[in-house]
Amino acid sequence: MTTESPLATARAQLRSAVEKLELSESMWNTLSTPRRILEVAVPLRRDSGVVEMYHGYRVQYSTTRGPSKGGVRFHPDIDLDETVALAMLMTWKCALVNLPYGGAKGGVAVDAKSLSSRENERLTRRYTSEILPIIGPERDIPAPDVGTDEKNMAWMMDTYSVNAGFSVPGVVTGKPIVLGGSLGRTSATGDGVAISTREALKDLGIKIEGATVAIQGFGKVGYWAAVAVESMGMKVVAVSDVSGGVKDFGSIEELRAHVATGATLSTYKKGEQITNDQLLHLEVDVLIPAALADAINHQSASQIKAKVVVEGANAPTTPEGDQIMKERGILVIPDILANSGGVIVSYFEWVQDKQNYFWGADEVKENLDSMMMRAFADVRALVRERKVSWRDAAMMIGVSRVAEAHKLRGLYP
Ligand code: NAD
Repeated sequence: MTTESPLATARAQLRSAVEKLELSESMWNTLSTPRRILEVAVPLRRDSGVVEMYHGYRVQYSTTRGPSKGGVRFHPDIDLDETVALAMLMTWKCALVNLPYGGAKGGVAVDAKSLSSRENERLTRRYTSEILPIIGPERDIPAPDVGTDEKNMAWMMDTYSVNAGFSVPGVVTGKPIVLGGSLGRTSATGDGVAISTREALKDLGIKIEGATVAIQGFGKVGYWAAVAVESMGMKVVAVSDVSGGVKDFGSIEELRAHVATGATLSTYKKGEQITNDQLLHLEVDVLIPAALADAINHQSASQIKAKVVVEGANAPTTPEGDQIMKERGILVIPDILANSGGVIVSYFEWVQDKQNYFWGADEVKENLDSMMMRAFADVRALVRERKVSWRDAAMMIGVSRVAEAHKLRGLYP
C-alpha cells in the first residue's frame, strides 16, 4: 500500500519541478491550484426501474495554454482528489508534448462492468448533460479512459450535439471513425508506449529485436502496447488484468480473443497462470504498468528485475517506489511522456474535426512518431544537462511551459 494519495504525489512532483526551475512562491500557488471543479450527482434508472445515484466529476485543472483536455473514467474508486491529480498530470503532459491544451479529467464513481449497455448509455448521457455547460470543442474536450471507450464517446457527442442543435464532433475525441474519429486513435496510447520503449532500449544499448516485455493491464493501453512492441520485434512474455496474469501463452491475439468474450485472463487455460505481483517481478528487459495507479510502490519496487519501466498507466508509481527504482538504477520513462500518444492523436482528431478534413493512417502514425521523438529529445537533453531523472526532466519541461504561458498572459484584471 502507498502512504501517499494520488493528489499528494502529484503535488510533490510539481513542488520538486517548481524548486528545480527556481520558480517563485506565487507561481507555485498559481500552478498548484485547479481552475475549475464541477461535482455532479448522476441519477441512473436501472433496467429494473430502481433509481440509483452516482457521483460524477469534471476537473479543468488548467486552461492557460488552450482548452482543457482529458479522459472520462468510470471506476468505483474514483474520487475528487484522484480526478484533480489526473487532471494535473494531463496539464504537464499536454505542455510536454507541446499541444495547445490545458489539462482536465472527469468520471463517475461506478463499476462500468455492472451496467447493461442501456444503463451505460443512460449514465453517460446524464453525466454529459450535467457537465454540458463547461465542455465544448473550444472549452474542454473529454476522451476515453479506464472503463469508457468509443461507445461512450459517441453517446457524449450525440448528447452534446442534440443540445446544440447541430453535430459537434470536436466536443470529444476517441470517437468511432464514422462520427469524425481519427484513424489510429484506438491504438495511439499503446503505439506511443511502444515508441517510448524503443527509445528507452536504444538509450540503454539493449537490442530491440528479442527484448522481453511484461505488461500489467490488458485493456486499451496494455493490449495495443503489446501489439505495437511485438511489431517492433520485441517479445511480450507475460500480461495481466485485474484477475491475474498469464505467461507462456499462445499469442497476444489469442488472449485478445479470449477476453473479447467477456472472460478474464484467469480463465485462459493455455498458459501458466501467475499473480499480478509475480508479473511485476519477472526477469524481463521491460516492464509496462498499464493498469491503475500505485502498482509500483515501496513493497513491489524492490523486487523489480526489469531494466526499464515504461509507464503506460497514469501515476502507476508511488514516490517511494520511484525512489527505490532510482537507487536500484532502473530507468523509468514517466507517464506524462510514455503514455502521451493517446492525447497526441486525440489532438490530431480534434484538428481533423475542426477542418473537416481527415488524414490517412500513415500520416497519423508518422506525425505521432515525430511528436513523441521531439518530446523524447527535449527530455533526454535536459536529463543530460541537469543530471536529473527522466520524470524530473519531463515535469520540468511541462511545468516550465505552463509557467511561461501564465507569465506572458499576465493576470486579469
Ligand atoms: P482499460 O479500462 O481499457 O483497461 C484497464 C486494464 O487494467 C484492464 O485489463 C483491467 O483488468 C486491468 N486492471 C485493473 N485493475 C487492475 C489491477 N489491480 N491489477 C492488474 N490489472 C488491473 O483502461 P485503459 O484505457 O487501458 O487505461 C489504463 C491506464 O492507462 C490508466 O491509468 C489510464 O489513465 C491510462 N491511460 C489511458 C489512455 C487511453 O487512451 N485509454 C491514455 C493515457 C493513459
